[in-house]
Amino acid sequence: MAFEGLTDRLQKAFKSLSRKGKVSESDVRDAMREIRLALLEADVNFDVVKDFVKSVREKALGAEVLDGINPGQQIVKIVNDELTKTMGEAAVPLNKSAKVPTVIMMAGLQGAGKTTTVGKLTKYLEETEKARPLLIAADVYRPAAIKQLQVVGEQVGAPVFEMGTDTNPREIVRQGMAQAAANHNDYVLIDTAGRLQIDEKLMQELSDIKDIAHPDEILLVVDAMTGQAAVDVAKGFNEQLGVTGIVLTKLDGDTRGGAALSIRAVTGKPIKFTGQGEKMDALDVFYPDRMANRILG
Ligand code: GDP
Repeated sequence: MAFEGLTDRLQKAFKSLSRKGKVSESDVRDAMREIRLALLEADVNFDVVKDFVKSVREKALGAEVLDGINPGQQIVKIVNDELTKTMGEAAVPLNKSAKVPTVIMMAGLQGAGKTTTVGKLTKYLEETEKARPLLIAADVYRPAAIKQLQVVGEQVGAPVFEMGTDTNPREIVRQGMAQAAANHNDYVLIDTAGRLQIDEKLMQELSDIKDIAHPDEILLVVDAMTGQAAVDVAKGFNEQLGVTGIVLTKLDGDTRGGAALSIRAVTGKPIKFTGQGEKMDALDVFYPDRMANRILG
């Protein structure tokens, strides 16, 4: 289960506090040390941990906490609020174009979950807005990728625009956009190629597709299981491409929490959705406060 280790360790840190009637400065110091270790062990970015602990310590040492009736609980609340803040306060909705279609471009490394997320997002838009998206298959480097998008499209009942693997992805996107205009699709979702790591050729291609399709939303799909690597990938993509939102996949696995807790603070870009499984309905809108509750157990 996701965050299990982090949840256990944080609860332990709180337990020693909640037994006390009054919390001293040294109690707070001990708890902060535990929280710091718990976050580092969960693979949270070092600078994020530093800021987090500093902020919690300052609030916890505030007079009203020390005089409080149940100081342990108050510190849990402070940590909860701070976790929520670190992950972005409130849910950030998808960007929407004033005139159709709204264009959503997916980006991310190979295997992160782009194609799966295109399907999930399509289903989500169909259900919440009765949307009629067109899916564009712009990953021409893996022959299986087009087939996979077609299978996903069939599962969620959405058409897929594809031109095989011999056409330049830029041309595919150009023609796909024209098709969406002709068919009055209200959304276009572009599935792009990924590689095992960020490289210049991939970034150039994505950047060209961006210029062609003028996406309202560039969703970066990252695998939460990869922890800090996911954060580095997000930083790289954001600096080179400019992303507008993040989808954190594979939160159903036993991920430690580092990506969920660091990515917003490091990139400044909001997590908009999380993937919680392989099925088409395993997509959730990201609510920082709910995630904080889940982490605290
Ligand atoms: P892409 O290369 O980025 O397009 O990645 P895919 O969409 O092909 O996904 C790679 C693998 O991850 C597939 O086996 C998906 O079923 C799986 N996957 C995607 N999202 C999730 C998720 O949220 N949870 C789990 N458990 N698996 C996922």
